[in-house]
Amino acid sequence: MSHQVLARKWRPKNFDSLVGQENTVQALVNALDQERLHHAYLFTGTRGVGKTTLARILAKSLNCEKGISSNSCGECSSCLAVDKGNFVDLIEVDAASNTKVDEMRELLENSQYAPTSGRFKVYIIDEVHMLSNSAFNAMLKTLEEPPEHIKFILATTDPKKLPVTVLSRCLQFNLKQMTVEKISNHLDMILGEEKIKFEKKALGLISKSAKGSMRDALSILDQAIAYSGNEISEEKISEMLGVVDNNFLTEILFKLSENKGDDLIEIGCGMNDKNIALDSTLDDLASLIHRVSVYQVAPSNELEYQNNNEIKKLSELFTPETLQLLYQIVINGKKDIYLAPDLLTGFNTTLLRMLAFFPSMQSEKLEPKSKEKNMITSDEVISEKKNSKERVIVDEKDFQEFDGDWHELVKKLKLGIANSLAQECEFKSYQDYSFELTLDSKKSHLMQNNYVEKLEESLINHFNKKVKVKILVDEVQTTPAIKSSNEKSKLLKETESAMMKDGFVKDLIENFDAQVVPTSIEPLNNKGK
Ligand SMILES: [Zn+2]
Repeated sequence: MSHQVLARKWRPKNFDSLVGQENTVQALVNALDQERLHHAYLFTGTRGVGKTTLARILAKSLNCEKGISSNSCGECSSCLAVDKGNFVDLIEVDAASNTKVDEMRELLENSQYAPTSGRFKVYIIDEVHMLSNSAFNAMLKTLEEPPEHIKFILATTDPKKLPVTVLSRCLQFNLKQMTVEKISNHLDMILGEEKIKFEKKALGLISKSAKGSMRDALSILDQAIAYSGNEISEEKISEMLGVVDNNFLTEILFKLSENKGDDLIEIGCGMNDKNIALDSTLDDLASLIHRVSVYQVAPSNELEYQNNNEIKKLSELFTPETLQLLYQIVINGKKDIYLAPDLLTGFNTTLLRMLAFFPSMQSEKLEPKSKEKNMITSDEVISEKKNSKERVIVDEKDFQEFDGDWHELVKKLKLGIANSLAQECEFKSYQDYSFELTLDSKKSHLMQNNYVEKLEESLINHFNKKVKVKILVDEVQTTPAIKSSNEKSKLLKETESAMMKDGFVKDLIENFDAQVVPTSIEPLNNKGK
């Protein structure tokens, strides 16, 4: 089959056929139709999103012989010449190869002359950030006092490298990356026109690997047509792109959730045997994790051709915090994979890292394997722990006498609002179900009637006897509150120092810019007391 390169054949020739840049197109269409023209435009955005295509359509609109309009006729000699790339008044410069000041000056000297055949002399300068400073200065002079017949259309992937003096003289449009869905729909349309059979899922794979660039998508599609013959199937495209069957990736997360290290390694090796590109697989794994995260907050965002069921199941297996961490580990794994002895080692190490962190993030359901590993607990774990503390309701009806241990007694009472009062009281004396307690003057605000009544009530419930409580305001030495705060800070210190020694945490701190937040550490072994 003789075949013209799709990207060229299907290059949009007017605003209507340009895909994915609706906002920019709308603004330009309005400006053209109302003839509110600027003398310098700047299109920014990543590669292949349509910057130069848009620039050419704009150039055509400005020079169409039928008049300035967003709807250039496409038939006059100007329009035809622009489409063919031989319009004399359209000067296209690739700054990446024209950075010398002399060339720029020469170019701009010519700009003083009126256009040969068009209405405007249009300069399209692609990758404009590559110009040298002196080239910028030469351009700036023209930008400051532009002749009526000149239009600049600048394009760049890196606007931060442009001098402010240039930026401030341009009308800037930031072009968006194409979504997988938009690319996929566009490919769908093209293949329909080209009368080439395809499977929708194959287009999903192509669109994904184009990473937001329509130009890349079309050139992959060219390859795909050459590779697949008369039908573009998912299987062929996976093979061609060396992309991962999504099942491998979901399987990785499922095995991780089951804490099955040996299975993870097996998956890694299996993928390697199939010649799957393990480095780019980490990208796919990161986007899968991202999709699970998104599903947790916005289930309806998932796209139609993606596997909703699996995503849904996965979203129930991981906490949002864990997913954030796993994502970070995968992204870092991508950086490390080229430093590893080989890709498989790098890949499997990333899987093991995920595994190493996973149980401690969600450790509540798992038996602690080692003391240190379980030092880190997520907020969720802590709050679950608090709940379980509340659930420890001592129901010892046969316990009738007070043994003198106020601290233990307070832990057993169902105190409700009186809890802070009981915590701050020091035990003084006890006789025949009469308690005498001391409260520090700083805490005397707790001595409200309803608190005291509630405390009495809970003691009555506990002993099943009439109980009296008398509270004196005086100095206190040791209250349950003081005791537990001392214990807590002692444990915290121990935990913190044990954790700092832990190799994995060290690694996290060094490699992930992680910080240990002291208040987030809580030793697990004090649970349920
Ligand atoms: Zn025309």
